Amino acid sequence: MSDAIEAHLEESRRVPPSASFVARARVADRSLHAEADADFAAFWLRQAREQITWYREPTESLDDSNAPFYRWFADGSLNLTYNCLDRHVEAGGGDKVAFTWVGEPGDERVITYAELLADVERAASALQALGVGKGDRVAIYLGMVMELPIAMLACARIGAIHSVVFGGFAATALADRIQDATCKLVITADGAWRRGQIIPLKDIVDEAVASCPSVEHVLVVRRTEQEVAWLAHDTWWHEAMAAADPRCAPEHMDAEDVLFMLYTSGTTAKPKGIVHTSGGYLLGAIMSHQWVFDIRPDDVYWCTADCGWVTGHTYVVYGPLANHATSVIYEGTPEHPSWDRHWQLVERHKVTIYYTAPTAIRALIKAGEDAVERHDGSSLRLLGTVGEPINPEAWVWYHEHVGRGQCPIVDTWWQTETGSIVLSPLPGLSTTKPGSAIGPLPGMKPVIVDEQGAEVPVGGGGYLTLQRPWPSMLRTIWGDDQRFIDTYWSRFGPTVYFTGDGARTDADGDLWLLGRVDDVINVAGHRISTTEIESALVGHPAVAEAAAIGAEDEIKGEHIAAFVILRDGHEATEELRQALATHVAGLIGKFARPKLLLFAPDLPKTRSGKIMRRLLKDIAEGRELGDATTLRDPAIVQAIKADADRQMHR
Ligand code: AMP
Repeated sequence: MSDAIEAHLEESRRVPPSASFVARARVADRSLHAEADADFAAFWLRQAREQITWYREPTESLDDSNAPFYRWFADGSLNLTYNCLDRHVEAGGGDKVAFTWVGEPGDERVITYAELLADVERAASALQALGVGKGDRVAIYLGMVMELPIAMLACARIGAIHSVVFGGFAATALADRIQDATCKLVITADGAWRRGQIIPLKDIVDEAVASCPSVEHVLVVRRTEQEVAWLAHDTWWHEAMAAADPRCAPEHMDAEDVLFMLYTSGTTAKPKGIVHTSGGYLLGAIMSHQWVFDIRPDDVYWCTADCGWVTGHTYVVYGPLANHATSVIYEGTPEHPSWDRHWQLVERHKVTIYYTAPTAIRALIKAGEDAVERHDGSSLRLLGTVGEPINPEAWVWYHEHVGRGQCPIVDTWWQTETGSIVLSPLPGLSTTKPGSAIGPLPGMKPVIVDEQGAEVPVGGGGYLTLQRPWPSMLRTIWGDDQRFIDTYWSRFGPTVYFTGDGARTDADGDLWLLGRVDDVINVAGHRISTTEIESALVGHPAVAEAAAIGAEDEIKGEHIAAFVILRDGHEATEELRQALATHVAGLIGKFARPKLLLFAPDLPKTRSGKIMRRLLKDIAEGRELGDATTLRDPAIVQAIKADADRQMHR
């Protein structure tokens, strides 16, 4: 770290909101927090009635009679797309730009609210023509093309349940998700642009769908235009759109009807289909987007997330559209075609709010300041981060070089399960600190507890729990209510939501996240379970046993290190090392490829047979080894370490 940054880090430990920001901020005092703390159910019902346009206005707020299967606004009826599109067009806001979409090769499409509504209606009719109706599941496997939000909204319009699968997942992982949800339709493209290369999405879908008997049709967007195999169940998106009825009335949905499911990794090899419903989810998206991003009519907002993750659902699609915001979407990654791509786009589209992941910030730091400084970023007024803890050094760089020392930074903590942001500074209210998510949004009740579930006093650390239900909370795990209870509502009691994260408070009571406390690795903001990687490895004929851990990574936060015991008759060669890493990538996706793969004669286990992951972490991070005396066979650690030293010093 440079001396200048270090000195600044000292000085800027506290960054109060600027007076100009406070003067016009949407939230500049704690009255909303106070109102929610006095009666959170009444608070949320008031917001729900004011912010959502209902077909039937709810009279009930929270129904906790069957906890933890909480229900919100259960007698209300609405449609998400009516709230995201029609109501703005009916109010005369149809000409406002909804999205400026920029393709990786540089093509652009500007789409207004009226145009987006027209496309969504057509796409919804096209889905109906293919036999999709309310409650049917639709898998969406696309790059960040404009058709991705359109497909999500088309499902929401007719009450079909979308399950977006990130375009980086491999065929097996895609097939698992399609099968688990018994999807009737898959929406994909011929390919996706990624760093100048084509990812052959259609080929991957063909391979996946071969083992998915529930799939009746595959709808294919033309994007990369290479030749693709054509099967009997395939239909081109553009042909279906051209033939579709241009009108499609929104389905009246009960507030508790399922809106979407999104798979995320848990502590077993089987991913969990997190279920979100309509009314509560929409309210969480609307309110958090207003409070945290201080959104106003003239903002140009850019959330860089892919719709394959929850951030893309809530903060690219539903929150911004319901708030009638103008957003930028970029198809590519920040480094392609060059490292100043994001700053070019900020300058060109006069972006005012920029929301990205710490991994991207760390990568951008590495690319150098001049990539930022070459462009005029003076339009920016607010910056955000999400997905993983941000290290203070990256925070300060972001503040200094991207925000010119003038933009508040909102470090937003939340999860696929929470549906919307739970912890974050509020830009017109909070004094921020580099690396701290500060505290709860109105209505939320985070509590840090110890092993026994007792609240840890201010200044201490422990497990992060949420101890009050909230509207956008997950409702269950698709098809597995018991796993929902076991995963989230058992560790500390039936009404205490366990996040799986560690956290601490400082002397001021501000919250700092400490990362996962379960067997989940966070690589570049993406959750992968260690068990998922281990089971991929042991599925290879050469592997007898495997252990995966997350090791510290300068850019990605964590990288995957895997320790492998070979079956008799297999030799620990360099070719096999590469083959095993490729095998994992082939089953899960490239982002799950282990960076470090070490051969071990055995795994370090305690006398009771438990793998000592702490020691594996020490090895992978090149640290002096901790106490190994409780091991069954201490010599093993030295043998693995020798392989590690060879790998790391190659
Ligand atoms: P996902 O459900 O994939 O969005 O991942 C959620 C997980 O990402 C959380 O449980 C945290 O471990 C991590 N996470 C998300 N946002 C933050 C943040 N602002 N600070 C620290 N960790 C975060």
